[in-house]
Amino acid sequence: MDFFNTHISPKAIELATQVLKSGWISEGKMVKEFEIQLNKRLGLANPVALNSGTSALHLALVLAGVGPGDEVIIPAQTFVATGLVVLMQRANPVFADIDPTTGNISVASIKEKITDRTKAIIPVHWGGYPCDLDEINELATQHNLIVIEDAAHALGATYKGKPVGSISRFSAFSFQAIKHLTTGDGGALACMDAVDSKNAFVRRWFGIDRTNSKPSILGERIYDITELGFKYHMNDLAAVVGLGNIENFSEWLSRRREIAVLYRKEFANVAGLQLMNWKKDRESASWLFTILVENREDFIRKLSEREISASVVHLRIDQNSVFGGIKNLPNQKWFNERQVSIPVHESLRDCDIELIVKSIKEGW
Ligand SMILES: *Cc1c(COP(=O)(O)O)cnc(C)c1O
Repeated sequence: MDFFNTHISPKAIELATQVLKSGWISEGKMVKEFEIQLNKRLGLANPVALNSGTSALHLALVLAGVGPGDEVIIPAQTFVATGLVVLMQRANPVFADIDPTTGNISVASIKEKITDRTKAIIPVHWGGYPCDLDEINELATQHNLIVIEDAAHALGATYKGKPVGSISRFSAFSFQAIKHLTTGDGGALACMDAVDSKNAFVRRWFGIDRTNSKPSILGERIYDITELGFKYHMNDLAAVVGLGNIENFSEWLSRRREIAVLYRKEFANVAGLQLMNWKKDRESASWLFTILVENREDFIRKLSEREISASVVHLRIDQNSVFGGIKNLPNQKWFNERQVSIPVHESLRDCDIELIVKSIKEGW
């Protein structure tokens, strides 16, 4: 049983064929349409479609004005992209500890890490389970910090009834191959402020303002780049893959949630296994189903004998030399030694799930 699935709907294939035959594969109408659907169907605020989730995070830092010497508070329980984008701005990632019952950044720890140089906070919704967004945003307001959610795992998640992507100033999403909505590679930046969104449209294409640059007889638009831009835009081919897939997204998401609920019921009293703590005011996108287990290698080995894949997905990122080596984060350490995720995607059949449940309940 595969750990991840890459879901391409027949509609995505049909639309991709049309785009390939059309002669227009660069950024155009389809990207605009994908943005409209991200807003309509998933509630993302003023979404800007990009070529990756990493680009979305980086662009948010640029728009937030994060620069050399600034500090950005991030968790270590994430993918390296969260920290690398901070380095791209010549800023310093400052690692906060996590809540060991969710894998998400701890508000108390963020408080301790705030200094005069802190400019932004990047909370990561581990596995798709939303962070304490009210508390984080309140703290950010008090200290004049900008919140950039790394929502790469959290498309479709809700917090106090609101979709992730409609809460903090910026939220970055990924449509990479194994994320639960894929465009091949791709991303989106949701912006609560429409002005940020407008700036993102300009910066995603070299800093050229396409809507206000007139074509000229010479064959090139008339423009003046005033601020550094990037080649971060999505193209129409990627956009239609997203458009084809987005039609089934809510169906896939419900199936993931159904499996997660079943696991939580079945694993509530298994020796050596601890479930994540879920609050009633938020709903996970269930991109991962993470649990904490004793004797993790035995656990993975046991499942692997039944051809069930289990994975840590990501170990703490501060262990990478580029970030200066392991920091003293007691909860992160504890979590890092025990966390593991089991398959939760929509391609699993009922018999697959039964086998997973049975194998784990037998012990390892
Ligand atoms: C996937 C992922 C990213 C990066 O997204 P890409 O689209 O691959 O650039 C960033 N953060 C987290 C937590 C991710 O899982």
